Amino acid sequence: MAERRKMIAGNWKMNGLREGGVTLAGSLAAKALGSPPSCDVVICPPTTLLAKIDRAFEASTIALGAQDCHAAEKGAHTGDVSAEMLRDAGCQFVIVGHSERRTDHGEDNAVVKAKASAAHRASVTAVICVGETGAQRDAGETLDVVGRQVAESLPAGADGANTVVAYEPVWAIGSGRTPTLDEIATVHQHIRSTLAQQCGPTADGMRVLYGGSVNASNANEILAVDAVDGALVGGASLKPDDFWQIIEAAAG
Ligand code: PEP
Repeated sequence: MAERRKMIAGNWKMNGLREGGVTLAGSLAAKALGSPPSCDVVICPPTTLLAKIDRAFEASTIALGAQDCHAAEKGAHTGDVSAEMLRDAGCQFVIVGHSERRTDHGEDNAVVKAKASAAHRASVTAVICVGETGAQRDAGETLDVVGRQVAESLPAGADGANTVVAYEPVWAIGSGRTPTLDEIATVHQHIRSTLAQQCGPTADGMRVLYGGSVNASNANEILAVDAVDGALVGGASLKPDDFWQIIEAAAG
């Protein structure tokens, strides 16, 4: 089985103005220089801060990511940003299909697949988010919903270098609630077998992150779950000490 290096990604969502964002990034960069993390660390700030934060991370190993991209390379798409533009701004990663985009912008699996494919075209790693709503969980549909999202959102040619999957139960995001460790393990195993069916042995190298109310207190046990290759962190990624504790938890 392929060795998968753990990954901790911070999603700042629509938070951060210049001063606060640069200060936060500077404090993470200083921590990374002082004690280099033994996992991959990615920060996805709002688009307005990408250039500033790229500079703040210059001397560190922290990678830059974006929170969304358009599927087209360029053209008449007012307000949108292409994966090529993100690459040009220093991004190595882009989140696609976050549940807030699926809900706020009506993005379905076909749109998410097109965006992931655009990321690949631009040599940016796509972090494809999937996850069931609370109603789907209550109806016992979690594995069906998540399996379908993975199968329908994954573009041809996906592999461990260009694709990461993040399992984010919608009801766990920002709620302080998380699935049990057994539930996380079951869904991650299901995602792994869906990936294997879809991509064959190349799926072995693809990381599957857990996201949804990960914090400094629960990171150790969540990151120790079999088949959890890291975490996508929202709220706690805005607190440098908490975020760093999550990174340290990934070291095992
Ligand atoms: C997210 O939005 O990707 C997320 C996981 O948020 P939080 O950690 O705040 O639940």
